[in-house]
Amino acid sequence: MSARSALPVRSRLLALAAVCLTTAATLTMTMATPSLAAAPIVGTQAPGFYRMMLGGFEITVLSDGTHPFPVHTVLTQVVGNKGAVPLDQVAPGEADALLAESRLAVPVQGSINAFLINTGSRLILIDSGAGSLYGDCCGHLIDNLKSAGYSPDQVDEIYLTHLHADHVGGIAPNGKMAFPNAVVRVSEVDADYWLNDKNEQAAPKLLNSMFEGDKASLRPYIEAGKFKPFAYGQELSPGITPIASPGHTPGHSFFMVESEGQKMLMWGDVVHVAAVQFPNPSVTLAYDSDAQMAEKEREMIFSDAARNGYWIGAAHISFPGLGHVSASQGHFFWIPANYEGPAAKP
Ligand SMILES: [Zn+2]
Ligand SMILES: [Zn+2]
Repeated sequence: MSARSALPVRSRLLALAAVCLTTAATLTMTMATPSLAAAPIVGTQAPGFYRMMLGGFEITVLSDGTHPFPVHTVLTQVVGNKGAVPLDQVAPGEADALLAESRLAVPVQGSINAFLINTGSRLILIDSGAGSLYGDCCGHLIDNLKSAGYSPDQVDEIYLTHLHADHVGGIAPNGKMAFPNAVVRVSEVDADYWLNDKNEQAAPKLLNSMFEGDKASLRPYIEAGKFKPFAYGQELSPGITPIASPGHTPGHSFFMVESEGQKMLMWGDVVHVAAVQFPNPSVTLAYDSDAQMAEKEREMIFSDAARNGYWIGAAHISFPGLGHVSASQGHFFWIPANYEGPAAKP
């Protein structure tokens, strides 16, 4: 038995009380002392770029920004011959319930990501963000490109997955060419659809701003002879092949990027709200040109990506939008890339 525990119980309690009083006094003094580390709330993020190697290619993901995604007005679901119906009518509460499973609630910030590929001899940008078409939330791509160590005049080519404002707007914010040496390429199908005034008149009003944004963004490149729509069936550059994936837009494209046996699919607008569309890939979007086709494309590419294990570069999954798809017991999951710090300096 120790000397301490041999003390009478009353003495031990008195000693404990003395320690408590001293601690309380110290705390009171600490709280009364002004903190020397007080600082204003900063409210900014680190520059929005993230790099990884894909074989011999260096991929730099560039954030264009995030915006409150209009979950309750834009998510839809195809119902028989009624076509796409707002999800909130088909399945009231489903969007909120699925968001809650991911600890999210409306408004959810949606990422806009673009991908710069350094092939070793060329710089190729896939999608370009919204430029000035989405307001102050977005249009940060050029700043992030510069933070990542490049200048816009170094970009050789820009491949667009499709001609929606948040993919094409960054090539010409306020109508001015941002990439003076770049050739801009998109599928012939999307170019033919979105640059045709008759299609604009026939399209839902929701899409009118897209048509106008396309014309304003592409005009300087068309005038400079630097707009070259592509046909499918061949590489656009060694290791980069476009794949037709119609539905979200008539000429929506994936780009399969391959180097030294490693593959990454830049899949554009397959997913807008990951927390909802991985558990339920049948959820479509009011902006889909053909929602039924878009749903089929999503289910097909989820299965293919899970089966074959290639990387995904996603335009609207939380920045940097790099990861893999997995499948288990008929459900799909997104596995985000494991963060890697900078490579050791040579
Ligand atoms: Zn889109
Ligand atoms: Zn988009």
